[in-house]
Amino acid sequence: MRGFLFEKMNKIEHIGIAVKDLEAANEVYTKLFGKPPYKTETVESENVSTSFFKVGESKIELLEASAPESAIAKYIERKGEGIHHIAYAVDDIKLEMIRMKAEGFIVLNDEPKKGADNKLVCFLHPKSTNGVLIELCQEISK
Ligand code: ZN
Repeated sequence: MRGFLFEKMNKIEHIGIAVKDLEAANEVYTKLFGKPPYKTETVESENVSTSFFKVGESKIELLEASAPESAIAKYIERKGEGIHHIAYAVDDIKLEMIRMKAEGFIVLNDEPKKGADNKLVCFLHPKSTNGVLIELCQEISK
């Protein structure tokens, strides 16, 4: 990793799924997991409404567009519903953004931004990651 210490990404934090109708999708996933989402949250800056489910140690995030200009609306228009991104937990998002840029990845944000579920987040363009939108997220310490 060319001069960087390894093990900067801890685990898959969650998998994001784009849905057309969050309420309907919540019902489906509540049935699937046998329990309701532990959190629902609208992120105004991203124009998304989200809900989060816990499955053992893993999390699933459902995302619905809350405005027509939302990236989720555009995604569903192009590709339909489905897996939208994979999020990895990192200890230090600013350092990781520097590392990612140095490694040639296209980092979509200049600064980490406030995401859902008490996280600072940034995204890597799928063009630079074999077609997968990648989210890096760091828990905001309380
Ligand atoms: Zn996410």
